[in-house]
Amino acid sequence: MAANPLQNTFPPLRFDNAFVRELPGDPERGGRPRQVQALYTRVDPTPVLAPKLVAHSKEMAARLDFDEGLIELAEFAEVFAGNALLEGMEPYAANYGGHQFGQWAGQLGDGRAITLGELINAQGERWELQLKGAGLTPYSRTADGRAVLRSSIREFLCSEAMHHLGVPTTRALSLVTTGEKVVRDMFYDGNPRSEPGAIVCRVAPSFIRFGNFELPASRGDLELLTRLVDFTIRRDFPEHAQEPDVAKQREQWFADVCERTAYMVAHWMRVGFVHGVMNTDNMSILGLAIDYGPYGWIDNFDPNWTPNTTDAQGRRYRYGHQPQIAFWNLTRLASALLPLFKDEEPLQRGLQRFGEVFVATDRANAAAKLGFGTFADDDVDLLHSLYALLMSAEVDMTIFFRSLSEIDVNAPTLAPLEEAFYDEDKRKAAEPHFLAWLARYAQRVRADSLSPSERRKRMRSANPRYVLRNYLAQQAIDRAERGDYAGIHELLDVMRRPYDDQPGREHYAAKRPEWARERAGCSMLSCSS
Ligand code: AMP
Ligand code: MG
Repeated sequence: MAANPLQNTFPPLRFDNAFVRELPGDPERGGRPRQVQALYTRVDPTPVLAPKLVAHSKEMAARLDFDEGLIELAEFAEVFAGNALLEGMEPYAANYGGHQFGQWAGQLGDGRAITLGELINAQGERWELQLKGAGLTPYSRTADGRAVLRSSIREFLCSEAMHHLGVPTTRALSLVTTGEKVVRDMFYDGNPRSEPGAIVCRVAPSFIRFGNFELPASRGDLELLTRLVDFTIRRDFPEHAQEPDVAKQREQWFADVCERTAYMVAHWMRVGFVHGVMNTDNMSILGLAIDYGPYGWIDNFDPNWTPNTTDAQGRRYRYGHQPQIAFWNLTRLASALLPLFKDEEPLQRGLQRFGEVFVATDRANAAAKLGFGTFADDDVDLLHSLYALLMSAEVDMTIFFRSLSEIDVNAPTLAPLEEAFYDEDKRKAAEPHFLAWLARYAQRVRADSLSPSERRKRMRSANPRYVLRNYLAQQAIDRAERGDYAGIHELLDVMRRPYDDQPGREHYAAKRPEWARERAGCSMLSCSS
């Protein structure tokens, strides 16, 4: 694809494509399916019929120095659907492997994601622009390289929602419909249907995953592995590149990856996010939430819940298991990196950081959620008895914690929490236990050093009023499939300020309605996207 006349519509952009410049790529270009003994393949997006911009993130656009006028133009949709390249873009698909549901799966790679380039913004920040659903690559295997509108809406909205919730995540710039149909068998039950296609432009400082390291390691290609590690430290972890002793540098880097992963997962737990497919190819080396597929949000508090129907049997990726899985994934990364270390010890020290940072972050989060100055050892029991109550009485996690700051600690009652219950019989049965718990809680709060206004402020900044509930995303999708995109825009706007009460938008904070309990898209999602 040649650089094109659309170029003049865009301001001059600075690309610095370090990944393809500094690392060895596939000698063959293009999307022919194959095993590749390199870190990426140069491949252009496959043009689509009729790209139309459906939504964009104002914040991300501003961060990339794209003004709102530019975004309205047809040229913008052309570029971010992959129909035209701008000067400086050098598209490629990355090669990686991964452990899927606990098993080594061999080469996977970007089967439908194509990176356009590494854009350097006016502030000097590096942002990799990546189209998801951009067509065939050597890593597409038997699939079509495309993405459907419903899953693209979900990825677009969740990327931005997580960012505004304060959870480290990849971002989304734009959502474009392609004007083409894509066929998917949503529940793999022999009922394929034709659905509208779409492309999301995802944005992150780096899309390198644990699986990028695992693949060369699995092939015994130490040279490629070493080059990727050195590159990643240099480009994405410049603070460690300062360390002249290479052994120390790599040890510090790995520990940093463990710390970031722990921090990320602790914040997933805080907001009730369930990723759904924590395979090692879906774990970012930067500790960002990445690859929003069959994810979900906790409505009634249930550590055993998973949104992913593909995982319904083993529930490997259930909400309450996410910290252990993140750790297991780090052990896979550690064993891929082992040949670069003298022995296991430095990696063990890094892995230990995971537990330390997870516990510290999780406790700080719990203190903020409950409105305590700090979390004391004695508070563990209080918290665990609350979790047990929330679970057995079927209580909405988000509404419960948000409403907890309304409790009068001098005369606690269940009144401010009524909205959080899903089942009247269960509420009645649990009432005496909740009252007992509230009495303990109120006593603990009264003994705390925080003033009432400080406490309220702290709680309201840790307990979102709005999260991207599964049924809300599904309602926006239903409307979009009828050609009405207003639901996406509204939801995106609500999720820009998830900690603020937004008058007139109370319905976006409502608990899951009964119709959504067992509905596809609301409580059950598959990997088909
Ligand atoms: P995921 O479970 O979405 O993280 O994807 C696992 C692997 O399948 C990755 O290598 C993806 O690139 C690939 N993949 C998923 N969907 C498609 C598709 N429609 N076309 C090509 N590759 C795909
Ligand atoms: Mg993936």
